Amino acid sequence: MEEILYRSTRSHQAPIKASEAILKGLSGDGGLFVPEKIPALDKDLKTLSGMDYKAVAYEVMKLYLTDFTEAELKSCIERAYDSKFDTEEIAPLTEAAGAYFLELFHGATIAFKDMALSILPHLMITSARKNQVKDDIVILTATSGDTGKAALAGFADVEGTRIIVFYPKHGVSPIQEKQMVTQKGDNTYVVGITGNFDDAQTGVKKLFNDKELEKEMAAAGFRFSSANSINIGRLVPQIVYYVYAYTRLLAAGKIGEGEKINVVVPTGNFGNILAAFYAKNMGLPIAKLICASNENKVLYDFFATGAYDKNREFVLTSSPSMDILISSNLERLIYRIAGNDADKNLAFMKALNQEGRYEITEEMRTQLADFWGGFAGEKKTADTIRRIYEDCGYVIDTHTAVAASVYEDYKTGSGDRTKTVIASTASPFKFTRSVMNAIDKKYDTMDDFALADELSRLANVAVPAAIEEIRTAPVLHTRVCGKDEMKDVVKEILGL
Ligand SMILES: *Cc1c(COP(=O)(O)O)cnc(C)c1O
Repeated sequence: MEEILYRSTRSHQAPIKASEAILKGLSGDGGLFVPEKIPALDKDLKTLSGMDYKAVAYEVMKLYLTDFTEAELKSCIERAYDSKFDTEEIAPLTEAAGAYFLELFHGATIAFKDMALSILPHLMITSARKNQVKDDIVILTATSGDTGKAALAGFADVEGTRIIVFYPKHGVSPIQEKQMVTQKGDNTYVVGITGNFDDAQTGVKKLFNDKELEKEMAAAGFRFSSANSINIGRLVPQIVYYVYAYTRLLAAGKIGEGEKINVVVPTGNFGNILAAFYAKNMGLPIAKLICASNENKVLYDFFATGAYDKNREFVLTSSPSMDILISSNLERLIYRIAGNDADKNLAFMKALNQEGRYEITEEMRTQLADFWGGFAGEKKTADTIRRIYEDCGYVIDTHTAVAASVYEDYKTGSGDRTKTVIASTASPFKFTRSVMNAIDKKYDTMDDFALADELSRLANVAVPAAIEEIRTAPVLHTRVCGKDEMKDVVKEILGL
């Protein structure tokens, strides 16, 4: 098998091995790691369609993580995609409303971040040991709610790791807080700070750059790492489910061999859709990559005009995980369409940093022909949830509804009848209030758990364990600190 090395998108530093890129997360020059080339699938899709999720995961990931042994990679996959998921299919497809919904929400926190965050801890600790790093890995995260819980669930009880999550004490929803403070696992620490999300994030960045703390930690056998979404160890596992989805359609006779499909992805940081783009470039027959945005439609404008411009009002929507003005993973696509040219990419990123805006060349735009951008506002999103429920009895969450709405627009505008997979990124039980309000305003007076029960009845789906648990789970984390006390708390936790 050909060795794949990883380069930074911002400089000409020597490329590094996959395990080193996973350990580092971000390149020292601020760039993202990208594979020097995108490997081609080395088994045909017919063969893959006879395999289960874990076997497909191995066949895809082995092509990227070429310095992992077969035993190492298979062990990571076994530990990740186990009974933490509530279905053996891991990522089942549901046919509804003229499309196939790829349900990426059957993991511990009932949203798609689980797909990658359940394997990242294992990839990270394996990478550490391969590179003779004996220290315990300390994951430090600031969260506005969802990512923190998914990271906690992923790292809980993974030997050789600790995870410390800071969240704004009065800046997350009651359910989000309850999910975090009930987290089990002796290596998990959840701390509320008396400040907002920016304070938490700034504090975490400071700790990452604190040389004195780094020395003290090294002396005690600890080193920091980050689990954020630009780590290549999160991107690669996301390629798997596109290959898996295609092969399930093939196995079920819904498509013929070689038939192309479209993929629609509700997009925020551009990680999920980039994984689909990588899958396409590996040889998976994907025609259009449909990028769906909510009212924060920076990406829609980018695909329409070639200008990326974050100078605009930030809108809070009912699809909060897509409320993003800087889609960090887009940098990997920019680098590629700039001819894998780090200097050109760096110039764009500098402009983004300094002026909040950059514009790509006409030549670069021609390479985006397979992408189609759309967006849906709040009303269309809610209408889509209600319409699909009324037509099919299938209930989707707000993020998925943005994608389903954009897909309707695409179909109407283009007349394209290619079979289509919509990435379903969260369970409706995660955003119960918005979902139920979309179906009928009368639900607005119910409390959150009553709403979950009502949704269960309407959708004919059991309330997921992730929700059942927090009804009764005991609070295990009560630490609260000021925004200037984060360092003291970390030292106390690590016994420094
Ligand atoms: C993170 C997230 C998204 C956006 O995914 P990106 O990879 O950041 O584009 C969409 N929906 C949900 C529910 C998410 O949690």
